[in-house]
Formats: sequence, C-alpha cells, structure tokens
Amino acid sequence: MSRFKFVDIGINLTDPMFRGIYRGVQKHQDDLQDVIERAVQIGVKKFMITGGNLQDSKEALHLAQTNDMFFSTVGCHPTRCDEFEKNDPDLYLMELLNLTENNKGKVVAIGECGLDFDRLQFCPRDTQLKYFEKQFELAEQTKLPMFLHCRNSHAEFLDIMKRNRDRCVGGVVHSFDGTKEAAAALMDLDLYIGFNALCMQVMSDVGRHTMTFMYLYRPGNSQKLRTRSLKTEANLEVLKSIPSEKLMIETDAPWCGVKSTHAGSKYVKTSFPTKKKWENGHCVKDRNEPCHIIQILEIMSAVREQDPLELANTLYNNTIKVFFPDM
Ligand SMILES: [Zn+2]
Repeated sequence: MSRFKFVDIGINLTDPMFRGIYRGVQKHQDDLQDVIERAVQIGVKKFMITGGNLQDSKEALHLAQTNDMFFSTVGCHPTRCDEFEKNDPDLYLMELLNLTENNKGKVVAIGECGLDFDRLQFCPRDTQLKYFEKQFELAEQTKLPMFLHCRNSHAEFLDIMKRNRDRCVGGVVHSFDGTKEAAAALMDLDLYIGFNALCMQVMSDVGRHTMTFMYLYRPGNSQKLRTRSLKTEANLEVLKSIPSEKLMIETDAPWCGVKSTHAGSKYVKTSFPTKKKWENGHCVKDRNEPCHIIQILEIMSAVREQDPLELANTLYNNTIKVFFPDM
C-alpha cells in the first residue's frame, strides 16, 4: 500500500471517457473501476467529483452515492451560467439548493462556480458575474465551503469574493494559474489554492473540457511556445510563493494530464503502464486519471524543494479541514 494519502479535490469522474466513450464514440470497455483501483493503490482516499451544472451535479451526486470514497460538489460553472436564464433563475438556484440540502454528507462543496473570461463564447461576462454572486446564496444557506474557478478574471473575482466573503465558510480556488499577487490576495481572504499539472506547466487559455492546448505544441508555432515557457516559469514561482498550509492538490482528470513536453515532467518519478490504445490494466495516453495525482505531488515537491510525504500530509490535512471538518 502507498505511504501517501490524497484527496483529489477536482476529479471529473462523470466524464464519459471513464466509461470508454470519447467524443460520443465507445472506444473501449467501461474501466471506471480500474481507474479507481489504480488511484486507491497510490493512496487516493477521497474523490471530490465536480458538478458543473444542475444536471451534471445530479450525475456527480448519483455516482458519489455508489462508493464510500466518493463525494460531490453542487453548482454551476461560469461557462454554463446561461442555464440560469434559459430556465427560471430562482427555480434553478432552488433546485441546486435542494439537491445539496437533501444530500448532506455526500455533497461537500458548492461549485464549481466562479468566473472564466477566457471562454466568454460560452457565457457572456455579465451573466457570469451575476450568477457567480447568486451562488453565494447556496454557500450561505448550506454552510458548505466553495469549489471555485477563476480564469483571466482576477480583479472581478476578487471583488465579488470580498463583497461576499462572510457569506461563505471558505473554499479553494482550483486549477490556479494567476499571479503571485493574485494568490496572495486570495490567501488574505483565507482561501486555499488548488494546483494540478496544468497550472504548473501550461498557460491560462486552456480550459476544462477543451483540448485547445494541442495547438501549443504545433511545430513552427514559436510565438505560442515562447508564451508558454514564460508562463511556465511564472507559474512555478507562484507555486513556490504559496505556503503549504494554503495549498491543495487535484488532477482535474480526465483533462490536464502531465505531458512529456511539460517543463515539470522531468520531476516525475512514478509512471504507470500506459498504452496509446486501451488495453486491460493500463492507463490510456491522453486520458488523465486520479492515480496521476502522485506525479503532481512529485512535481510540486521538487519545485518547492519539500519532502513529498510531508507535503502530501499537509495537503491532505488542509483538504480534510475545509471539506471534511467532521472527520
Ligand atoms: Zn475549473
């Protein structure tokens, strides 16, 4: 058994990829149980399944009910906040609230919510601002911490956060890719910062459920590559600047895996048998899994020059304190 213990705070276990379905096509058999088994082997104790809108939150909760190690979040992602207006906004909020209230113990956070100005094509800015703030009602009523998302929107995010900080018990800004100053401002509000492989290695215009970052690696695209390496350096500096008492760790799987082209990949020590085409008992190339959380720890601890076990224990304790306070 692993000497490490982890909580993966951002894991999209409802994604069809974990059922072998890629872009709507069944490519291999459902191997969710193997994915979980691999993660448990390296020390994952709890999985916080991300809910991205009302329907997705229902599915996340439904899955969470199948395993004692699974938990879920309930909320609406900034890129999906137009759903409030496509429905009756108050009713939509009420349904999120009911889902949470009726499943205390399984639902451990309000989220994913926040702002994402990199992807305004999915939801306009004003709508995002309005319904991010509206979701504080959920945090206030349920007294649950928040699982927060902030992309290219730091000033506005901080503004809303400051105005509503006393309405929520706390939370984490996951998949953080902001500056040192932005991280400091969030820590001043007693919020935690979540890192995955992506934060440490690539740039900010990459989002969950998109694969647009592939263009970064296209040969000849030197402008983009240059931007990436600068951003990488800056991100590693940000990671170093945050006290471990304010950090959390996540995979954001099946997205955001460590790529061999990433600067941080040289720090990775643990590898898993991986095939380009799915094979029983193997990871699949380009599908991130919760077991890869150990690789994120390895990069983090190398960059921060910290003992991995000690760092893992701190990250674990931080997460328990915020999301599982009754443990
Ligand atoms: Zn996010």
